[in-house]
Amino acid sequence: MSLRAPALFVGHGSPMNAIEDTPSARGWAKIATRFARPRAILCISAHWVTEGVAITANAHPSTIHDFGRGFPQALFDVQYPAPGDPDLAQQISARLAAFAARLDNSWGLDHGAWSVLRRMYPAADVPVLQLSLDIRRTPQQHYEIAKALAPLRDENVLILAAGNIVHNLPAFFRTRELAPWVKAFDDFVTQAAASGEDESVLNYAARADAREAAPDWEHFFPVFYALGARRDGEMPYIFNQHYEPGISMTGFAYGLAA
Ligand code: ZN
Repeated sequence: MSLRAPALFVGHGSPMNAIEDTPSARGWAKIATRFARPRAILCISAHWVTEGVAITANAHPSTIHDFGRGFPQALFDVQYPAPGDPDLAQQISARLAAFAARLDNSWGLDHGAWSVLRRMYPAADVPVLQLSLDIRRTPQQHYEIAKALAPLRDENVLILAAGNIVHNLPAFFRTRELAPWVKAFDDFVTQAAASGEDESVLNYAARADAREAAPDWEHFFPVFYALGARRDGEMPYIFNQHYEPGISMTGFAYGLAA
């Protein structure tokens, strides 16, 4: 019997979730227990933006510490030595031929991927690939890429999109107060994910609160990859609804057993 892996969106937040015992980190560990171990993971992280669509093809992707010097040495010491899967990278690039996807040997795993994955699969024994966010594409085009990726789930490849539904770092540092738009915008996305109104999410910029809630497109666009990879009739399992000023850590998964 073949297994269908979920399509998962996670709010990844601070890289410190990789080493601190936080509610969000515990939520990631827990969600991984809700479905069978995938044969590979395709991660779409906010932290890999390119011109054109790229797929990591390394057999042994490096752990990239892509954050400022202000973080503790312990975070720079983290390694996530999951293998890659060059054959699968080849297959995915063929699947995305219409989008001119290319294989890449320069990138490895960035913290959007490994901060979450070391909680989900601490043994780092599931192959991981990353797919970049093409800066030149519209929301609709990212969504089309996700639809082309959806059949991978039937080969037990987990689609793991890592961003944040709400990501406004100036607001995070400016105030300790939870502005109403944090939860309002987060609810807008989770409700659309449940009702299948993907169109309204693709048109998120039309909302009055989008400029405050989602000023960083690269943290928001991973949402499109989870929405686009949904199969007919799937309802989202929503988790990690943790809010901070300027940040929501909410995640949602399609394809979990009830
Ligand atoms: Zn981030």
